[in-house]
Amino acid sequence: MKMAKELEVHHHFIDGVPSPSANNATYDLVDPGTGEVAGKAARGDANDVGRAIAAARRAFQDGRWSELGVVRRARILNAFADAIEAALPRLAEVETRYTGRPIREMRAQLSRLPEWYRYFSAVARSSDDIVTPFEGPYHNYVRRIPIGVVAQVTPWNHPLLILAKKLAPALAAGNCVVVKPSELTPVTTLMLAQIAKDAGVPDGVMNVVTGFGPEAGAALSYSKGIDKLDLTGGTETGRAVAQAAGANLIRCSCELGGKAPMLVLPDADLDATAAGAVFAAFIAAGQTCIAGTRILVQEQMVEPFLQRFLPRVRSLRLGLPQALETQLGPLVAGRQLARTEEYVAIALSEGATVACGGKRPGDPKLAGGFYYEPTVLTGVTNDMRVAQDEIFGPVTCVIAYRDEDHAVAIANGIRYGLGASVWTADAAHGMCVAHRLDCGIVWINDHHRIDPSSVWGGFKASGIGHENGHEAYREYTKIQSVVVNLGKPPDWYGTTDVVRLS
Ligand code: NDP
Repeated sequence: MKMAKELEVHHHFIDGVPSPSANNATYDLVDPGTGEVAGKAARGDANDVGRAIAAARRAFQDGRWSELGVVRRARILNAFADAIEAALPRLAEVETRYTGRPIREMRAQLSRLPEWYRYFSAVARSSDDIVTPFEGPYHNYVRRIPIGVVAQVTPWNHPLLILAKKLAPALAAGNCVVVKPSELTPVTTLMLAQIAKDAGVPDGVMNVVTGFGPEAGAALSYSKGIDKLDLTGGTETGRAVAQAAGANLIRCSCELGGKAPMLVLPDADLDATAAGAVFAAFIAAGQTCIAGTRILVQEQMVEPFLQRFLPRVRSLRLGLPQALETQLGPLVAGRQLARTEEYVAIALSEGATVACGGKRPGDPKLAGGFYYEPTVLTGVTNDMRVAQDEIFGPVTCVIAYRDEDHAVAIANGIRYGLGASVWTADAAHGMCVAHRLDCGIVWINDHHRIDPSSVWGGFKASGIGHENGHEAYREYTKIQSVVVNLGKPPDWYGTTDVVRLS
C-alpha cells in the first residue's frame, strides 16, 4: 500500500484556483477495487464553504457571467463541452478508480456528458421571454433571470453525470455555483472545475468544496448565502436539506431514492426481457436510484422467466473495474457492502430464497475490494423490507403477481416513485399501464435511458423538482414581470372620473 504522504492531495476549487482547507485538514480516498487508499482530499468545513459562497457571490454580483449575454455564455459552454470531450479518457479512468464502476460502463456514460452542456446552451439561446395580453395601454413582458448563487450537493454513484444534470442548466441560465461532491468521489468534479476554467468559465462561477456531508454539506445547505439548493442523494438527506431550505425560504430541488419496478407483462418476449432485466438490475452494481430492483412477473411465468434470467446473471464477469472485460465491479465502499450483506440476511429471515449470488466472490484477487456477487432473491412479497427499502447493491427481487391490477398495486405500493419499466409485446397497452404508475419516469421495453431533453424527477419520497429538459432550465431561473405604461402617467388623486383598477 502507498504511504499516505506520497498521495496526491486534491484541494477545494475556489475562485478559479485549487485551495487547501483553511485548517489544512484532509481525508483519505479509497479505491473500492482494492480497498487501498488512493488519494487524499481537502476536508472542508463552514469556513471553506463560506469562502466558496463569497467567491460565487462576488462573481454573480459583478455580472461577469450572468450579464455576459446568452450568446457569449453559450459559446463558452460549447467550448467547455469540447474540452470535456477531449478529457474523457482521463475522466473515465479517474471516475472508475473512485466509484469502482467498470471502465466499459464509465466510458459509455461519460461519452454523453458533453451533450448536457451543448443542449442547455441551446435551451438558453432559444428561451423566449413572453409578452402578456395585459389590458390597457401597457406593455408587459416577463423575463427569466438567473437565481443567483446555487448549491449543488451530489452523490457518488454517477458523479459527473449527475453533476452535468445540475451544472449545465445552472450555468446556461447565468447562475454561479458551489458544488459539494460526495466525500467518496470528489476528484472528477475538481477536474471538471479546472476544465471549465480553462474553457473560459470565469473565476468564481464554478466552485467546489470537498468533504463530508454533515460538515461541508450541512454548512452549504444551511448557509444564508445561497439562493437555491439542489441535492441528489438519499431520502433522509433530502428531508434534512429541504428543512434547511425551508428555514431560509430558498428554492430547493431534491432527486432522491428509488426502488424501480419492472413490470413483465404476460405477452413479453421473455428472452429479451431477461436480458433487459440484467441491464436494469446490475448496471453500476445496482447502485443507481432507478435500478430494476423489483421484477414483477405473472405467477405462471416466474419459472420460465427465471430459466432465462438466472444463467445471464450467473455469467456476469465480476472483476477489477479497470479490466475491459469486467461487467460488474465492486461496491463503492465497505459500508455499502455491509448494507448489501445485511439486506440479504434480512431477506432470508423474512422467507425469501437466494436463487443466485448472495455472497462475496471467492476469487482471492478480489479479496481486498468491496465485491459482492450479483444476487437474485425469489419468493419475495411486497411487504418484505427487501422489497421496500433501497439496498443500493447488486441485489434484485422477483415478485410474483396474479393479474395486471395486482402488478400495478405492487408497483405503486411503496413510498418511492422515481422510475419503472413495462415489458410487453404491445406498446400501446404498455402505455396504458405506464399511465397507471405513480412514478416520474417510465420506460417501455427498456430501462435506465436518459437524455438531456427528457425531464427527470421523482414522485412521493423520490424527490421534488426536475432535472433535464426545459423544465430544468426554468428551475434554474426566476421570473420578473415588467409592466410599462405606454399611455398617460397615472394621476389617481387628480381626477374625479371613475377609473378601473385593473
Ligand atoms: P447521501 O444522501 O448520503 O449523500 C448525497 C450527498 O449529500 C453527498 O454529497 C453527501 O455527502 C451529502 N450529505 C450527506 N448528509 C448531508 C447533510 N446532512 N447535509 C448536506 N449534505 C449531506 O447519498 P449517497 O451519496 O449515499 O447516494 C445514494 C443516494 O442517492 C441513494 O439514495 C440514491 O437513490 C440517491 N440517488 C438519487 C438519484 C435520482 O436521480 N433521484 C440519482 C442517484 C442517486 P457525503 O458523501 O460526505 O455523505
